[in-house]
Amino acid sequence: EQSTEDMRRNMDSMEEKSAQLYIANKEAMESNRLKSQFLANISHEVRTPLNAILGYTKILQKNIKDNQNKLYVDTIEQSTNSLLAIIGDILDFSKIEAGKLSLDHSLINIRELVDDVYQILSANLLTNDKQIDLVTDFSPDVPQTMIGDSIRIRQVFTNLISNALKFTNKGSIKTKVILSSKSKDQLILSFQVIDTGIGIPEDKINQLFKPFSQVDTSTTRKFGGTGLGLVITKKLVEQMGGVINISSVPKIGSTFHFTLKLKPSNKPQPKQEKLEK
Ligand code: ADP
Repeated sequence: EQSTEDMRRNMDSMEEKSAQLYIANKEAMESNRLKSQFLANISHEVRTPLNAILGYTKILQKNIKDNQNKLYVDTIEQSTNSLLAIIGDILDFSKIEAGKLSLDHSLINIRELVDDVYQILSANLLTNDKQIDLVTDFSPDVPQTMIGDSIRIRQVFTNLISNALKFTNKGSIKTKVILSSKSKDQLILSFQVIDTGIGIPEDKINQLFKPFSQVDTSTTRKFGGTGLGLVITKKLVEQMGGVINISSVPKIGSTFHFTLKLKPSNKPQPKQEKLEK
């Protein structure tokens, strides 16, 4: 039987433990906040000189006549763009971690958006000598326009489709879109990005949404990338009220399935503005 004294002692020690936990938790949150702030500051500081390099590179490109030098300058441009993409990922990642990513509400034409992403990314296909059909399949009840964050939705597609292109040599990459539900003030769209690429081993699938993970680290150099793309993609999808999951069979291909909650637009159908790349 427990005496009152014992009980009191127990309660005191429980209170003390929870106070310690509270302090540890606060310290962890503060250090996390500082880490995110640090990453955000660094990214910002690095971006400014990179943009200067890019700007002057573009000026040089216009004036260069000799082929060898043109090759050098083109390489500087490509490398600078890769660095800017990495910095962009780190900045997005730290913003998301700090809970500071806010969403925009703009008018979106989802078919044009997907076509545009395909068009921008397929420029690489010619240079890489890959034979891939790019296919879109929209169910007819998907509205032409809707309201959402077009930049972030574009980013989700760019990440998934550029991965699909990276890890597929031949076959197809298909984006399928269906309307899952529709009410007066909400649309739920369901998307699939289906590739016929190298696939992902079953035991690796769960790791893909963890920061900095790549299935095969030996191919990291070959394929490039920060290992943040899918982490950011998942967080963006979740922030837009959706879920994302993967099914994949090695050597057959992968399917990334995700949903998004959007708002219906009652406006007639204007053209979507093209974003500068
Ligand atoms: P990264 O920027 O390094 O590509 P991601 O988070 O976008 O980072 O992807 C993480 C890893 O998941 C990739 O390095 C690759 O191993 C695997 N992966 C992603 N998409 C595909 C795909 N469509 N097919 C095969 N593997 C994929």
